[in-house]
Amino acid sequence: MRFLFLMLLFVLASCQPNEEITSKTVDMYNTDGDMVGTAELTEQPDGVEVKLTLEGLTPGFHGAHIHEFPICEGPDFQSAGNHLDPEGNEHGLMHPDGAHLGDLPNVEADDGGLVDAELMLAGATLTDGKNSILTGEGTSLVITEGQDDGVSQPAGDSGARVLCGEIKSGKQDESTESPESPTDPTDTNEDQGK
Ligand SMILES: [Zn+2]
Repeated sequence: MRFLFLMLLFVLASCQPNEEITSKTVDMYNTDGDMVGTAELTEQPDGVEVKLTLEGLTPGFHGAHIHEFPICEGPDFQSAGNHLDPEGNEHGLMHPDGAHLGDLPNVEADDGGLVDAELMLAGATLTDGKNSILTGEGTSLVITEGQDDGVSQPAGDSGARVLCGEIKSGKQDESTESPESPTDPTDTNEDQGK
């Protein structure tokens, strides 16, 4: 049995692509911690395409922004930080001094609360240069309750953060990596007898 298991590991490991990341799939979660869709990020010559498939939103328009930290802690997702803004611009795709790199167009949920949309994060890259969204530890994608008016500071008057997905800079295929341990395995009780 162990031999079969090792064989399986070997087969999985040999399927790993070694080239640079050109696409990434991000799981999106609501404030209850339920996974409610995905965002497929694909690098294009003029930016990063964001293909959104979501459910459970209120019908109508919602703001969509890349935020500066890859941390989605409910229920308010404030842990994601502000909009990604490496240039120090004003917020808003319609602002004369905008926009943040992380500002995306609004998405529209249909009567059933579904979103099936392709957005373009203009000028961004996945991994290269200062406009990378996988810079450092990564970033996050946040969907808001209301729509972004495109000019109001600091976030387009777009309301509460209702969905969040972590865009982590780790290797693309996380299925064969060890999950992050919540405790440090080297943290033993050796120093207890002081
Ligand atoms: Zn912004």
